Amino acid sequence: MATSTTAWGRWDCTRCGKRDISGREKRCPACGDPREQHELDAMRPPSEADFAAAAITDASELRLAHEGPDWTCGYCGSNNRAGAGVCGSCGGARAAAAGGGGRVRAQVLAAIDEREDVEAGLRPKKGRWGRRLRILAVAGAGAGGLGYWGFSEHDLEARLSRLEWEHTTHLEGWQDVRRGQWGRVSARPGKAPVGGAGEVAAIESPHCYDKHARDERYACGSESYRDTESYTCGTRQECSTRSNANGSFTRTCRSVSKTCTRSVTKTRTKYCTRPIYELWCDYTTQEWAQVREKTVRGEGHEGLRFDDFGALADDQRTTQSGRYALTFTYDDDQTYRAEVPRGEYDAWSIGERAILSFERLRGVTGYRRPRAGE
Ligand SMILES: [Zn+2]
Ligand SMILES: [Zn+2]
Repeated sequence: MATSTTAWGRWDCTRCGKRDISGREKRCPACGDPREQHELDAMRPPSEADFAAAAITDASELRLAHEGPDWTCGYCGSNNRAGAGVCGSCGGARAAAAGGGGRVRAQVLAAIDEREDVEAGLRPKKGRWGRRLRILAVAGAGAGGLGYWGFSEHDLEARLSRLEWEHTTHLEGWQDVRRGQWGRVSARPGKAPVGGAGEVAAIESPHCYDKHARDERYACGSESYRDTESYTCGTRQECSTRSNANGSFTRTCRSVSKTCTRSVTKTRTKYCTRPIYELWCDYTTQEWAQVREKTVRGEGHEGLRFDDFGALADDQRTTQSGRYALTFTYDDDQTYRAEVPRGEYDAWSIGERAILSFERLRGVTGYRRPRAGE
């Protein structure tokens, strides 16, 4: 709901310098000089205190204040009230009024001045209309270019300069080991190996028990927590003051609801964790496990062999593994070494030509045989 209050403003006489003359006066009470348009334009609106203490309440006075804009006499330049037919200073006719009857200057003088009138202590948020800065991230260009530069490939001429092999013989024994797993495990007989083969692993002396497997989350009642909520907390006055262009000013105020925030206690489901136990069994079984190993190394295609461990017991066996490497030389003294399967190793000879793939950032990434005519 809007409420309006009207009061007279104050002006200064530019002829004699008298200050704070009521806007109701059309001439200076000290020197008698009529008020002119520029003095009306410079009129100061009533202060808060004036609107409160000097509000116009008398009916005829209010009519005068709301009569409309003053007009300026075309002969002597004096201000005259809207209702006057002739100039109060020189008696000139209104028809000759400058600017065709006075300029309407109903402009908002004081934009929204807020007054807190409820809930003392709850202050309005500052900076509600504060500037907001927006930071724009500008994505840089050129990453694609770097990628192209880094991975562009070219070929290098190379020759195979070295062939290396490494053969390992592993001596394994059929051994008791302690193992465990989730779920029920039952004992069962096994079979010992004969000549290093035909073995079956036994399961012996299983020991089963409930073991902590994981933690489980579950609802365990409710808990309270603090939260923030908005609510309407009374009203605030929004006021604006406009000039009636005749020495009076009208201030209009309206109540708008005000929003506050408060801390509240809310309730939510509470979650707890509890350990879950499941059946676990430890037991003894047997596995082939490495006991020792012997390695032989050499170069080229001649004399590739595996070492041995002589006569083996029934619960022993051997397994073999091999590693093979090609080394290429390029740019006179640079080398590139690649581990390869046995078949690839056997297919290459010392001194053979090869083409290496080269990337700027990663160096040599691979090799191949030259294509026909390359
Ligand atoms: Zn004066
Ligand atoms: Zn006049």
